[in-house]
Amino acid sequence: MQPSKRLLAAFTLTALAGGAQAADEVVVYSSRIDELIKPVFDAYTAKTGVPIKFITDKEAPLIARLKAEGANTPADMLITVDAGNLWQAEQAGVLQPFKSATIDANIPSQSRSSPDSWTGLSLRARTIFYSTERVKPSELSTYEALADKNWEGRLCLRTSKKVYNQSLTATLIETHGEAKTEEIIKGWVNNLATDVFADDTALLQAIDAGQCDVGITNTYYYGRLHKANPDLKVKPFWPNQQDRGVHVNLAGAGITKNAPHAEAAKKLLEWMTTEEAQALFAGLNQEFPANPKVPASEEVQAWGTFKADAIPVEVAGKRQAQAIMLMDRAGWN
Ligand code: FE
Repeated sequence: MQPSKRLLAAFTLTALAGGAQAADEVVVYSSRIDELIKPVFDAYTAKTGVPIKFITDKEAPLIARLKAEGANTPADMLITVDAGNLWQAEQAGVLQPFKSATIDANIPSQSRSSPDSWTGLSLRARTIFYSTERVKPSELSTYEALADKNWEGRLCLRTSKKVYNQSLTATLIETHGEAKTEEIIKGWVNNLATDVFADDTALLQAIDAGQCDVGITNTYYYGRLHKANPDLKVKPFWPNQQDRGVHVNLAGAGITKNAPHAEAAKKLLEWMTTEEAQALFAGLNQEFPANPKVPASEEVQAWGTFKADAIPVEVAGKRQAQAIMLMDRAGWN
């Protein structure tokens, strides 16, 4: 072989090896914990051969890290929970919009950002839970009615510092305006049985233990607790079935602004919206698939069907600052 040909052959091999490696990997930053995402990634790698590297952390440090790394980030995808957090990532400029007919077809627009910076992958209802010993479902009707005198000293709430409650309040503001929402929230605060809780699970346990009679939490916390303790004396109630429906939020993902493997990340994201991946992704956390063609797990279906609020969930981000100020004014700690 002539020296020049040898050089060309060597160059081609290197380029191929480098190209294959670059295109064949996806790096994910995830605030969803290992055990809820690894089986999904393993299934994708088994199907396509594409390796997925991921790190997990809370959403705020992950977004800060993406900002700090800028153009040098190794991350291609951000996975996090709550439209409020995804909206924050969008505002921080760490996501790039994607155009995908597959995602458009699989995920309803109310579960996506309007500039397509992120898409929902699974849904969770933030609904009313009640004591089966002290409350009849017929006494319950709406989120708003939990502000009635009837519930004085009987309501449990999680802290207003948690994005889940900020998102719920943001959608109330979108529905009712500020003044009426503040009245409702003040009513809730007046009805509290005890200090606000640090997490949803402790709140459900407090209902079970008799510390309060009703509360508002995400459905998957109930799913986990009920699985561990089938005798739990707590059940979900689906409020606002005569009007807008139950507040639903999501876990979702976007492609990072400076993704080194943006095309590969888009393929992964598209796959995550398909029937094959949706049952797995949602089922691992007892959530509802964001793709409406995919049925929920049997455990989740056992909770019954309900009408969900059709409000575009990105309003949770748009009105987040307003919600935080309102909750503070209303005395929700
Ligand atoms: Fe959660």
